[in-house]
Amino acid sequence: MANENDRAPTNPNQPTGDPEWGHSLNFNPGPKEVLHDFCGENDVAGGSCPNCKRPLTRLLSLHAKDPILNLDQNRFSVVHLVYCWRCSIPFGNFSYKIEKNGSIKILNLPPRQPDAEHGLEGPYDGYTGIFPNRQISLESIDADDQLKLRQYWQSTDAEVAIRDGLDEPRHQVGGYPFIYNPVKTDCPECGRDMPLFAAICNDACGNDTWRQTANETFVGNGGVQMIFHLCRKCSIVSAYSSSD
Ligand SMILES: [Zn+2]
Ligand SMILES: [Zn+2]
Repeated sequence: MANENDRAPTNPNQPTGDPEWGHSLNFNPGPKEVLHDFCGENDVAGGSCPNCKRPLTRLLSLHAKDPILNLDQNRFSVVHLVYCWRCSIPFGNFSYKIEKNGSIKILNLPPRQPDAEHGLEGPYDGYTGIFPNRQISLESIDADDQLKLRQYWQSTDAEVAIRDGLDEPRHQVGGYPFIYNPVKTDCPECGRDMPLFAAICNDACGNDTWRQTANETFVGNGGVQMIFHLCRKCSIVSAYSSSD
């Protein structure tokens, strides 16, 4: 059994999370919980896709006042997780800087691949790239799940795969989320390993990974996830997509 004293991870591509403990998204938050914004229109300064000239899809805005996030409030007020499924952004590492006021400055875009991109119409019929805002809170995942996810990450043998439904994409902040094809991510500014910040699955309105109604999903494909890393020193977010 894994425990707190385990050796360093053996899969170098799936980094430890910061926060180290995983949190799921609670779509029915209680009155005393710190609220975050899942989706909603993106009117963030600098938050437009330079390729598509349209607002990037706003997936999740995590507010730094939540102590769960370990964010330095002298540096961050909010961390917006944004993405684009119309252009080349899913084909590589996409990174941006978050200013203290929450505005975004795009740093890196993967090279254009016109034949492979979904284009302005998006990944499915009726795609808008904008999804209704829902307020969520962060809910600590079970100790048992945290342990299993950590064990999976520390294993070099896929056969030690975790069970009990944990081996599929889900929304998670921090910890060791299940990732189909983890990619080691270095900060484009300081070059250091970027800790994992969040994993976002296909569901644009809740926690149903395999939701079937396309326009309630980000991509229309439950086997796709978006993985976000954050360098807290440089205030840089780097994202990539992963799939089965
Ligand atoms: Zn785009
Ligand atoms: Zn950095």
